[in-house]
Amino acid sequence: MILRSLPHSVDTINAPANPPPITWEETDCPLCGRRDAELLLEAADPTPAPGQIGLRFPVVQCRVCDMVYTNPRPDRFSIGHFYPADYRPHRRPRKIATSARTRPVLSRLLGRPNPVRRGELPWPTTGRLLDFGCGGGAFLKRMADQGWQVTGLDAAVGAVHTIRDELGLTALVGSLPHPELQPCSFDVVTMWHSLEHVHQPLDVLREAFRLLVPGGRLVVATPNRDSWAARWFGSSWFGLDLPRHLSHFTPATLSTMLVASGFRVTFVRDLRHSDWLRSSAKLGVRNGLGAWSQLLTWKPLAKATAFAAYVAGQSDCMMAVAERPAY
Ligand SMILES: [Zn+2]
Repeated sequence: MILRSLPHSVDTINAPANPPPITWEETDCPLCGRRDAELLLEAADPTPAPGQIGLRFPVVQCRVCDMVYTNPRPDRFSIGHFYPADYRPHRRPRKIATSARTRPVLSRLLGRPNPVRRGELPWPTTGRLLDFGCGGGAFLKRMADQGWQVTGLDAAVGAVHTIRDELGLTALVGSLPHPELQPCSFDVVTMWHSLEHVHQPLDVLREAFRLLVPGGRLVVATPNRDSWAARWFGSSWFGLDLPRHLSHFTPATLSTMLVASGFRVTFVRDLRHSDWLRSSAKLGVRNGLGAWSQLLTWKPLAKATAFAAYVAGQSDCMMAVAERPAY
């Protein structure tokens, strides 16, 4: 991939008044390390800052291992330009709705033995938990209320301070590896929609492995590009969220990366996300995809379609659970 695929020179993008400027980098495949990729699509930022309207970002697929990733991309020092101040995951937690009571029935009907829901752990124990990419701390708070000893980690300074000051919970600024986190000090590490945001996902997973006790478990939730919505909506798919999402996983590439980091994959499972489908449909309408996209902005239809995708194993959101082997 070459920088010509961007519409502006990298030096002329309208950066905020305060430096550092946006710096673009080309990257090797984040999974296999090769540099042999072909262009898959280009898409715009669905929520561009005023100075970034018109930018389109290339997504490529590795010819060696099939990993899909954003390339070129803003480097780790300037990616912050693309996170608006009110970026949703960084907002403080509000009351969290629960539909857990209906879920086991649904899963029984579908013959799925291990019911899980976004933001929930599929086992009832407690212990020491690290939430990587903890955002505003909604999940941390819920786990702390359930008796977990929680630590949050996020690159957003403001979100971390809010967690400390308003929720009274332990939270650190930064990424993995982090100097204040010791090996074998957590029973569970969670990554709810954070792994796709990092520049070196393999390094982050390897460090998560090191932080877990033998037998400890990792939970990763990401968009699933091997899904109906990703195929239907293409560059309008909400799960792309360019350029903030740097890796675009399928169940296969996520599993391969987990194994490459030392983990044993317990399962990869679909999660339902009807509001994502509606968001994709709205983007599709904006991008001229037509009447079918307009239809899917209708909430009941989006909900029914997301349910059908879930039943068919075609949800655009997935969750993996992996274990650090005990030997
Ligand atoms: Zn590759």
